[in-house]
Amino acid sequence: MTVITTAHPLAPSWRQAPRDPNALHAGVWPAHMARNHHDMEISGVGISELVESYGTPLYVMDQAELVARATKMKSVVESACDAHGTTGSVYYATKSFLSGHVISWLAQAGLGFDVATGGELAIALAGGAPASSLEFQGNNKSLEEIRQAISAGVGAIVMDAPIEADRINDIAQELGVVQAVMVRVNTGVHADTHDYLATAREDQKFGLSPSEAFDLAQRARELPNLEFVGLHSHIGSQIFAVEGFVESATRLVDLYARLLETGEVPTMNLGGGFGIAYTEADDPMDIADLIPQIVDHVAHETSSRGLPMPHLAFEPGRIISGPAGITVYRVGVVKPVAATLPDSSVATRLYVSVDGGMSDNARPALYGAHYSARIVSRVSDAPPALVRVVGKHCESGDIVVDADFLPGDVAPGDILAVAATGAYCYSLASNYNAVGRPSVVAVHQGTHELMVEGETVANLIARDRGLGSTKRGAH
Ligand SMILES: *Cc1c(COP(=O)(O)O)cnc(C)c1O
Repeated sequence: MTVITTAHPLAPSWRQAPRDPNALHAGVWPAHMARNHHDMEISGVGISELVESYGTPLYVMDQAELVARATKMKSVVESACDAHGTTGSVYYATKSFLSGHVISWLAQAGLGFDVATGGELAIALAGGAPASSLEFQGNNKSLEEIRQAISAGVGAIVMDAPIEADRINDIAQELGVVQAVMVRVNTGVHADTHDYLATAREDQKFGLSPSEAFDLAQRARELPNLEFVGLHSHIGSQIFAVEGFVESATRLVDLYARLLETGEVPTMNLGGGFGIAYTEADDPMDIADLIPQIVDHVAHETSSRGLPMPHLAFEPGRIISGPAGITVYRVGVVKPVAATLPDSSVATRLYVSVDGGMSDNARPALYGAHYSARIVSRVSDAPPALVRVVGKHCESGDIVVDADFLPGDVAPGDILAVAATGAYCYSLASNYNAVGRPSVVAVHQGTHELMVEGETVANLIARDRGLGSTKRGAH
């Protein structure tokens, strides 16, 4: 008897050959993305039209998807808090994706912003975010950044080390203001994610142990130009299970209880880190279920000790921006590569080279992250082939999509889209191999608009004082 299997020996076990390698898996691709004969549309705009207008590679951001995700997060947080007689707020983590358009859309939706450098602070302010809606963090804020944040009037500065209490107090004193501060707590929770994305294990750079955090909060309460407004924690990123958040909240409430004995602790910020689907193997919890579980837990932990509920805050980035973005590439080279398996049989995978790579998406190289791809520019009934979508950079780790199935006739000239690239792609982009970073374009109800202009080689040359116009100017 013949057993028919769709498993490919070089594919990871979770990546099965799909029945239709043209289909868009719901939950991985933006909701308003669909096939339209020999093209795909995103939010009513043909991708072929975007490619014609802006070229490839191109980041495309679906405005409605991003705003809907932000609005949902905000209403879920507010209603979960309301159910326990407190208030909640959402700070968008700007490091996931930051541009003027996104700041104005999200400020209008009523979100605050988490910024971690003077650059993020300046862009958020230039984009129209009210200073009071900003939370400034980071493990090594310069004195100049602290001064900028206090002068602007940020809502709170999150202290990450004991030395920051005096630094912030001194600058606030000079400026004649009292600055609200929080303390970043490393709760020691081992979030189940990539090591570099876990930010609350003991041996890493962020935050303070609960006992150190206690001391720093007490110190802040003593200093005349600081107002201690609460505790902050962030356990990591791309986390799927509720347990880590819940355990971290328990440990935070312990500290909260101790600090309440000697003063007020108005706010508890539980951070971000909510996971999204990059492939059909990812099955993140709906935040409409996840957030109330965390909030209910904090309510249980506080009420069982007879403590008031604090104001709660969350700081999501990826779950708002990630699924709203796709990246569009053009295929240049397709090459089958044979690999010998342990049993001496030979299996082939197609290497599909596109006109971008680790310079526009560093996550596969940084974290071994997985993505999903589809041919945009045509529908094919060729049987699915295992492909590895790779970039044009000079490293074998320059992978865009490690393993997916595309129609086996994928060919030079095809336009490919990669899903869920809205977070941590543009913001981590580089000029590796002297490649300019791509443009970012917004699509909305059938229209498109440039959000961030891409870089040309001329831009790169212009910054190099040994080249081009600056050099000629020296003659
Ligand atoms: C990165 C970061 C976030 C956002 O993480 P996501 O995984 O994008 O939700 C929130 N808070 C802090 C302190 C961060 O460093």
